[in-house]
Amino acid sequence: MSAPQSTARTNDGRSTTGTGARAGSLRTVLRALAYLRGYKADTAGATIALLIVSAATLATPQFIRIAIDDGIAARQPRVIVLTVLGLLGVAIVRGVFSFLEGFLAERASQGVAYDLRDGLFSHIGHLSFSFYDKVQTGQLLTRLTNDVEQIRTFAGSGIAQLTASIVMLFGTIGLLLSLNVTLTLAVLGTIVPIVILLGYFVRGIAPMFRAVQQALGKLNSVLQQDLAGVRTIRAYGREAYEDQRYGTVNTDLLDRYIVTVRAVANNFPFVFLFANIGTLAVIWIGGLQVIGGRLSIGELIAFNSYLAFLVQPLLTVGFLAAGLSRAAASTVRVFEVLDAPLEVQEVPGAVALPPVTGRVEFQNVCFRYPGTERDVLHDVSFTIEPGQTVALLGATGSGKSTLVNLIPRFYDATDGSVRIDDHDVRTVTLESLRRQIGIVLQEVRLFAGTVRENIAYGRPDASLEEVEAAARAAQADAFIRELSEGYDTVIGECGVTLSGGQRQRIAIARALLVDPRILILDESTSAVDTLTEAAIRAALRRLRERRMHTVFIIAQRVSTVRHADRILVLDNGRIAASGTHETLLRESPLYNAILGSQLEDTGDDASLAAAG
Ligand code: ATP
Ligand code: MG
Repeated sequence: MSAPQSTARTNDGRSTTGTGARAGSLRTVLRALAYLRGYKADTAGATIALLIVSAATLATPQFIRIAIDDGIAARQPRVIVLTVLGLLGVAIVRGVFSFLEGFLAERASQGVAYDLRDGLFSHIGHLSFSFYDKVQTGQLLTRLTNDVEQIRTFAGSGIAQLTASIVMLFGTIGLLLSLNVTLTLAVLGTIVPIVILLGYFVRGIAPMFRAVQQALGKLNSVLQQDLAGVRTIRAYGREAYEDQRYGTVNTDLLDRYIVTVRAVANNFPFVFLFANIGTLAVIWIGGLQVIGGRLSIGELIAFNSYLAFLVQPLLTVGFLAAGLSRAAASTVRVFEVLDAPLEVQEVPGAVALPPVTGRVEFQNVCFRYPGTERDVLHDVSFTIEPGQTVALLGATGSGKSTLVNLIPRFYDATDGSVRIDDHDVRTVTLESLRRQIGIVLQEVRLFAGTVRENIAYGRPDASLEEVEAAARAAQADAFIRELSEGYDTVIGECGVTLSGGQRQRIAIARALLVDPRILILDESTSAVDTLTEAAIRAALRRLRERRMHTVFIIAQRVSTVRHADRILVLDNGRIAASGTHETLLRESPLYNAILGSQLEDTGDDASLAAAG
């Protein structure tokens, strides 16, 4: 059953604002970090490497202290040489393990990004149609690319750096205490304001990062819509308006970036100021202690070096926390997609639909689009026998497309059931169901690729002969042969090099090639001239005689539907009349009204009057 709740939350990150979101976003970051589980060895390796680098870093001032106190002051050249060799060894260790840490962390982070993208893509591939009714493609693209990248940056070295920083911080404090307790306490006093400053910074920056990601999503949304609608924009001369619309979101994005930049710029000079005050304290108090003979010069210099090591992990933790906010903003957006409910789901233990004869039955079907208030189909019941051609006729918006979309389970009926050969479509696997249904959607989508690839989309292994046969039945073979490279001609993303009617015929050929038991043509010949349409109809009849297809034809032209075995006239989501052309002419005022209006309008169906 379809869940009534909407997935509109996914349009942008609106639902992530507010204080309650902070704990929630931390949880989602942990969820994202759980992806590191697949890269345990790399993450552990990076952490260990960084710990070794930290240890080597902490050792450096000790060598310098020994060189000064025991080498220079004591005039021992041998000690100087040894300490220099020691420093060289430390430098080499640092270099090697820094490289190792960088490499391993990067490899783990790329793995996490790969898994996230993969998970997102495969989830998106299974999301219900109702999700796409509401989502903005640009927002979705941003989540798959930029948001994943934000998470990757954090996931990569976050854990290693956090561990190393904590070790570094406490290691440094320990070493400082071992050198001189008074001096250490004085220095720690100057650290307190740094911690407070960083704390404020991190709290403030989180919502700023969320805003940046939202603005970026909006920008991509506008961009994607403009690119898709470029012809409409030109046709209506709306370039200036679109320029301005894009300019607005672009400015918004820049503004939000600047806000974050300002937050960084406002805080960090103060951090360094306090760090420098620490140095002054060391030289002042430490200098007096050296004069008093309580501290050696080497110890003072070592102490001063450790001071820098104290600030560095604090800064790293600050940046990590900011990065965490940033990753959190992105993580929430990514998991919103990953958690979007699958409204059309296979029931546990769904069985494969065995090859069907093509009997289609609607039993008291009501339907309402998820998240809307109004029923689009009301109590629709009918039965189509195998091999019949049934036509759906009705005004625009009467529910024709909606009705046929329930057969391959693009949506689930809100009430009642749709049955194929006595199987409720909700009890069988989606794959086995959809494999037996060929549907040419009202909005034809061709992919960038050759004509042949496009026709063979549902059966990539089809031979050229099979592709040609399908194209012939769809009355497409002749025009395809006239294309510069025939079946190997590359057509654009929207098939822009083809006319509307040509595109429709390619789409029909595509549906015919999978040899479906049930064929659904939703306004599929609306852009094709009546003569070609008649030829397609004749070809379909020949196919049907051989294979017993059940065919659904949706059309607004009476001329397209009058040959059907049965015509269902839809009026505002209800079946208002049903029968053959002849019986409807006799019995249905609505059918006569539709027919009459079309004869008046175009006169191109004058022969219909004779038929009646
Ligand atoms: P046409 O002849 O123009 O193709 P139709 O008979 O195929 O029209 P449907 O597309 O089935 O009409 O639409 C039936 C009703 O459902 C319309 O009122 C439409 O506004 C509404 N509708 C269609 N698609 C959606 C959707 N994805 N979400 C919400 N409402 C929808
Ligand atoms: Mg329609």
